[in-house]
Amino acid sequence: MVTYKAKMVERIHLPPREDRERAIEDAGYNVFNLDAEDVFVDLLTDSGTGTMSQDQWAALIRGDESYAGATSFDRLESAVADVMGFPHVIPAHQGRGAENVLYGTLLEADDVALNNTHFDTTRAHVANQGADPVDCQIPGAPDPRAQGDFKGDFSLERGREVVSAVGEDRIPVVIQTITNNSAAGQPVSVENTRAVAEFAAEIDATFVIDACRFAENAHFVTERESGYGGSTVAEVAREQLELADAIVMSGKKDGLSNVGGFVATDDPELADRCRQRAILYEGFPTYGGMAGRDMEALAVGLREAVEPGYVEDRIAQVRTLASLLEARNVPVYTPTGGHAVYLDAEACFPHLASSAFPGQVLVCELYREGGVRGVELGSFAFPGTDRPELVRLAIPRRTYHREHFEHVADTAAAALERADEVTGLEIRTEPEVAELRHFTAELEPVSG
Ligand SMILES: *Cc1c(COP(=O)(O)O)cnc(C)c1O
Repeated sequence: MVTYKAKMVERIHLPPREDRERAIEDAGYNVFNLDAEDVFVDLLTDSGTGTMSQDQWAALIRGDESYAGATSFDRLESAVADVMGFPHVIPAHQGRGAENVLYGTLLEADDVALNNTHFDTTRAHVANQGADPVDCQIPGAPDPRAQGDFKGDFSLERGREVVSAVGEDRIPVVIQTITNNSAAGQPVSVENTRAVAEFAAEIDATFVIDACRFAENAHFVTERESGYGGSTVAEVAREQLELADAIVMSGKKDGLSNVGGFVATDDPELADRCRQRAILYEGFPTYGGMAGRDMEALAVGLREAVEPGYVEDRIAQVRTLASLLEARNVPVYTPTGGHAVYLDAEACFPHLASSAFPGQVLVCELYREGGVRGVELGSFAFPGTDRPELVRLAIPRRTYHREHFEHVADTAAAALERADEVTGLEIRTEPEVAELRHFTAELEPVSG
């Protein structure tokens, strides 16, 4: 059931087809290079793109912009304590700033970090410390058709293998990402979190939860995990998060805000070490790169994320888009996860080899057909890995409606109808850092 109505609107428009054709060509067949005003339905990311509530906008006005000791920080701190259960909060400008603070404090060269799946910025921050990010994904996770309630779980079997191979002394950090963003937003069970917490304790590692989508994850737990059917999202969220020694959070996800992030922990000594690094990279520990007003909006957003109704409606939107696509025979990753629908580009364009970037071809076709912007998460974004060729349609929070999703599904169906005519893409220019190439690289249609 929807628990909100619109009070302020933003005009969007669908440029005529010939303008879209020109725009995508000018963008070097990379939708990151498009002007947002040329996009009709923007599903590039759910990060910071959602709609704030009137209570969040109202809270902005009372932002305390004091450099030190701002009351806005106190309000953020209480929200984190109430919703997530951690007394020490170190704010940061966004999630990756928090990752830099925490992983820069915990990791050194030659260390190994374990994670169910490292999200891109997490992987980059671990690597930036000279440490080795190792994924411990359960076997069915990458398979778009494997069924399972908690395909985002951390594989303890894999974790133990790595411990025997490298020795526990080299593993100071074990991370669990909930929901598992890089594994199609699949949820993680509380049972798995509890087992990973015990495993981390056994090897004397700090157990970190990447809590970006903690409320979405908690919703899946109430729906699917035995023993939690009668619990609220708020109760599950606290129970699951409190199993960690520390959490990293992006306010742009389940903080329901446009910016911000933080590290939180119940370990005063770790908190102090993080504050020192935060001063260097983010700001004084009572603002950490956020304006006072942004801390206010985030404090309200965190509480709204676990209010009854909010997250149920959000997950229902994801399911609505998926079923509209399935009704038009567009192949999607199942079961659908928390924040996005993933299209199986390999199944859409079986005649294209992965070297021809079928996912990126699909992304371009979605824009060309209907002004819809998604993002490729396959061989273009992750060179040299054997990831499935997926296209992510991420849903901004409290922003779009069924009519938009119907347009997206019709657009994808139209792109599939022309599947035989599409040709592959090749890279024309790319930046030096291969891990970041999908943000700026330019492509062109394969010739001949
Ligand atoms: C978005 C995200 C981050 C990084 O947060 P930003 O606010 O984008 O810097 C880290 N981990 C996960 C799982 C995320 O989804």
